[in-house]
Amino acid sequence: MLWKIIDFSHQPKHVFSSIFNTFTRQFTLPSFPPNPSKFKTLISNGQLKQALLEMVNQGREMKFEGYDTILNECVKQRAIREGQRVHAHMITTHYLPPVYLRTRLIVFYAKCECLGDARQVLDEMPEKNVVSWTAMISAYSQRGYASEALSLFVKMLRSGTMPNGFTFATVLTSCTGALGFNHGRQIHSLIIKGIFESNIYVGSSLLDMYAKSGKIHEARGVFESLPERDVVSCTAIISGYAQLGLDEEALELFRRLQREGMASNFVTYASVLTALSGLAAIDHGKQVHSHVLRSELPSYVVLENSLIDMYSKCGNLTYSRRIFDNMSERTVISWNAMLAGYGKHGMGPAVVDLFKFMREENNVKPDRITFLAVLSGCSHGGMEDRGLEVFDEMVSGKEGVEPEIEHYGCVVDLLGRAGQVEKAFEFIKSMPFEPTAAIWGPLLGACRVHQNVDIGEHVANRLLEIEPENAGNYVILSNLYASAGRWEDVRSLRELMSEKAVTKEPGRSWIELNQTLHTFHASDRSHPRKEEVFAKVRELLVKIKEAGYVPDLSCVLHDVDEEQKEKILLGHSEKLALAFGLIGTPEGKPVLVMKNLRICVDCHNFAKFVSKVYSREVSLRDKNRFHHIAGGICSCGDYW
Ligand code: ZN
Ligand code: ZN
Repeated sequence: MLWKIIDFSHQPKHVFSSIFNTFTRQFTLPSFPPNPSKFKTLISNGQLKQALLEMVNQGREMKFEGYDTILNECVKQRAIREGQRVHAHMITTHYLPPVYLRTRLIVFYAKCECLGDARQVLDEMPEKNVVSWTAMISAYSQRGYASEALSLFVKMLRSGTMPNGFTFATVLTSCTGALGFNHGRQIHSLIIKGIFESNIYVGSSLLDMYAKSGKIHEARGVFESLPERDVVSCTAIISGYAQLGLDEEALELFRRLQREGMASNFVTYASVLTALSGLAAIDHGKQVHSHVLRSELPSYVVLENSLIDMYSKCGNLTYSRRIFDNMSERTVISWNAMLAGYGKHGMGPAVVDLFKFMREENNVKPDRITFLAVLSGCSHGGMEDRGLEVFDEMVSGKEGVEPEIEHYGCVVDLLGRAGQVEKAFEFIKSMPFEPTAAIWGPLLGACRVHQNVDIGEHVANRLLEIEPENAGNYVILSNLYASAGRWEDVRSLRELMSEKAVTKEPGRSWIELNQTLHTFHASDRSHPRKEEVFAKVRELLVKIKEAGYVPDLSCVLHDVDEEQKEKILLGHSEKLALAFGLIGTPEGKPVLVMKNLRICVDCHNFAKFVSKVYSREVSLRDKNRFHHIAGGICSCGDYW
């Protein structure tokens, strides 16, 4: 073609213009002379449409600078149509963009969510550099296309291009889950070979990758070897611990880093608050809260949501509600946290009221978690009828949230709690899902409370098939047989249990006193004040036995004599923590004890007697809910 033969650059301007015009006539309205500086003015005024006209005017005189300017504006405005016209202009004028401009095209298409077009630009590049590859990899990983990001990374390595720190940082964000972890480990070895390990971005991403894959020890290893730490890497490791439920480790690390002068951002605080919620360490929680207030961070919804959750899990709903009420903006997570808080505390009417308020406000649509919180709140709070109404509305499709198996589980719980064990059993049989342990479990609990041995036996057998290793089921069935006087069955159940070599998740209870967490395990002899604690438990036992407490020996499945059983019961971790709480707090002050598992029937009864005989309010937070015990009566109504 002619324009390829004539070297325009040596022509005087007016000659260029006239030749140029013969080529551009078909697609442009000529206006002379073309004015490249006009471009910048138009763009700096944000007048993209006029700039496009100017581009067409300039036709083949468009140069790198012009394309770069207009393309950047298209990226900024995410103007897909306009950007496409720029790209088309390059093609029709046979402009051959350098690597830099083609990479800008990739970025442009990716920003406009046209990943296919972005990829086509990359694939058609006659030569690519590390920036172009990285732009595309980052486009994939930012949008969650992990396997595309990883396979493009491999393709890049095969092409002989060396990744840089940003490439590694980007591709590592795609290494999540079990498969991603394997890739991540391989990438880690590449990083070591390329000596990128000391790059702070690469280090943080590596750490994040390990933390998200649940490999917290590897994450910690990377963290400790970072040449310098910033708020991002500190937050990644702390939230890694918190997400795995390693709350104590998270808190300990946070305190250490604070002493070392680490800066915190709202994500750091939110992660620490999650850890503190798990620990129910309210004194620490208040400290973090005041840190947040002092640091004058802008009010982040995420952070406020974590505060609501932290206070409610630490047993202080008043604080939760105060934060909730003062929020300038609430997300569905804020509502869910508040609803779940009331639910766990057995405050059914508060759940129902708040849910009504949520509907009236009508700013936020309830989601599946909202309905779970409402249904289980109704169940724990004795509002069975309202709960069933809500469920029926869900089934009718009015709510726009279809009930899932967890919602059905709440209904089983509701019916069981209301004493309608048979109805609950029929309900399970009519479910559109195969019942899981989470469905049968609450019904077995209901059978124990309402002493329905027939259905209880059936349900327990289903449960023992599904999860033969769960010791809790054996204990409940044993309680049930014992209450019916079926001692022979208790004995054969014990044999079955030892045959299957059931291992129970070790029970653990803890209590926060003067900003220190004291953890007790069953028959714990490791606590420095163990003698005092055991003496206190024995003292409590004598006093409450006088008031009528009888140890529930069916809670012990070991094949030992009765005296031995009573000893085992007394060593339960929640009793030790409770005794320690009574020693360490002034008379009349409420005691809050946390347990990692469901509280056992005997310990529940023990705490009730203690609250009555010693006139103390005892709060117990177990895996499922809060038990507020005062004057010998528990807020759960002996059903949990
Ligand atoms: Zn117990
Ligand atoms: Zn209770």
